Amino acid sequence: MKTIGLLGGMSWQSTLGYYRAINEGVKNTLGGLHSAKIVMYSVDFEPIEKLQRKGDWEGTARILSEAAKSIQSAGADFLLICTNTMHKVAPQIEKAIDIPLLHIADTTAEVLAHKGIKTVGLLGTAFTMEQNFYKGRLSEKYGLSVLVPNKEDRQIIHNVVYQELCLGKIGPRSKTEYLRIIDVLAGQGAEAIILGCTEIGMLVDQDDTNIKLLDTTAIHAEKAVEYTLE
Ligand code: GLU
Repeated sequence: MKTIGLLGGMSWQSTLGYYRAINEGVKNTLGGLHSAKIVMYSVDFEPIEKLQRKGDWEGTARILSEAAKSIQSAGADFLLICTNTMHKVAPQIEKAIDIPLLHIADTTAEVLAHKGIKTVGLLGTAFTMEQNFYKGRLSEKYGLSVLVPNKEDRQIIHNVVYQELCLGKIGPRSKTEYLRIIDVLAGQGAEAIILGCTEIGMLVDQDDTNIKLLDTTAIHAEKAVEYTLE
């Protein structure tokens, strides 16, 4: 079994989901008392969120690259960055380490390709929905057509992530809003919706809608299990 490196804490609420899903995945495959070999570095998210808001992505890259180097030195064989947004600085983090990075957009795109989905809706932070590091990778590398909500709805999605989900707050009104926005994207032709923020699965899941949802936390964790047992 390979040792999994988790760069977490963004937010720690979603890293809990990774830890549970990865351990359950290994246990379900190997049985008995088996559990995953994990090295985790969980950051303090407050200063990182401040840097995001200032647009100081190089500042975030420095912090996360140092954390990734620690994970590598502690014996991890490969790395997961447990957030979609911070894949904005995945190239800088990759440069700082020698172990492979399992990119969250790639693992998600592989699932979409497998299901034959070509047009997909994307929910995430404003950074993820508006900038090219994520959407661009999906369209340029995998030929996907990516739909995002309108400006007002993007703001709703973004605010719920930072003001509620990252703090562990689950609100019924926010859930209704998310489901409304998912319906709008489906109405515009999305065949499935990427929950492209690792906390969104805490708020909505497949039981809430007939529209196919792709939870990036679950997909990323499943890929880690596959890779560790390869
Ligand atoms: N966990 C989130 C994501 O997947 C948002 C928090 C962050 O900015 O990292 O994008």
